[in-house]
Amino acid sequence: RIVYVNGEYLPEEDAKISVFDRGFLFADGVYEVTSVLNGKLVDFDGHAKRLQRSLDELDMPNPVTFEELLEINRELIARNGLEEGGVYLQITRGAADRDFAYPANPKPTIVLFTLVMNISGSPKAETGLKVISIEDQRWGRRDIKTVQLLYPSMGKMMAKAAGADDAWMVEEGVVTEGTSNNAYIVTRDGKIVTRQLSNAILHGITRAAVLRMAEEAQMVVEERPFTIEEAQNAAEAFITSATTFVTPVVEIDGATLGDGAPGPIAKRLREIYMDEARAKAI
Ligand code: PLP
Repeated sequence: RIVYVNGEYLPEEDAKISVFDRGFLFADGVYEVTSVLNGKLVDFDGHAKRLQRSLDELDMPNPVTFEELLEINRELIARNGLEEGGVYLQITRGAADRDFAYPANPKPTIVLFTLVMNISGSPKAETGLKVISIEDQRWGRRDIKTVQLLYPSMGKMMAKAAGADDAWMVEEGVVTEGTSNNAYIVTRDGKIVTRQLSNAILHGITRAAVLRMAEEAQMVVEERPFTIEEAQNAAEAFITSATTFVTPVVEIDGATLGDGAPGPIAKRLREIYMDEARAKAI
């Protein structure tokens, strides 16, 4: 694989980062994953804007312009012959003497690499996911997409140990989001419910697109918190993220939703999302 590091395209084994990089020592870095369909980027604009917001919230300089970033993404897709999957991007505050305070003149590190994934034909889209609930023990600024992903990794391991696919995190009795996705239910009267935006969750780029498409398709959307009990009694549930698009959830803490098969609203939203993603990818 050819990866991009600070201005250079290199074979992955030749790419090196300092042991003093603050991304490594302090998780002082942010990231994005943009999906790729037919060799083209899905919602690049949304991901680039959220990247800038994450950097701004952390007073971290952006080493690339919007146009440069697009060019790097395209070059990497071309050099790796990527048809379907994603581009992972990470920017850290760079190498500096180890000090909790930020360095006065940071030299950010930027890394991009491609990921091969079958997103459009994922078997989980047909069978649906099983999720468990766990306590949300992450820090309080989940709206910033930092590389501090240890608790979500622990959550994935807890899900695996329980024979499930993922974990939905619960804070003060209500669901925040999945370990790496936004969480939704569909009420028995057909309303799509997902938690409102705040610092408690990541402002998903797929979430924004899917909610807009749901409203355009005359579906009713309610942005409010919901409990695990409400989710277990819902007609349907699903998740969204750049690497899963819309994927149905069919079991929550052992309780089967409906007849245990992916629901019609989740299936329809997945189709609508994929059609638009394909048509608008750049
Ligand atoms: N929530 C969390 C915690 C995530 O890590 C992610 C994606 O990585 C999402 C939600 C979904 O965001 P997006 O749709 O922008 O991929």
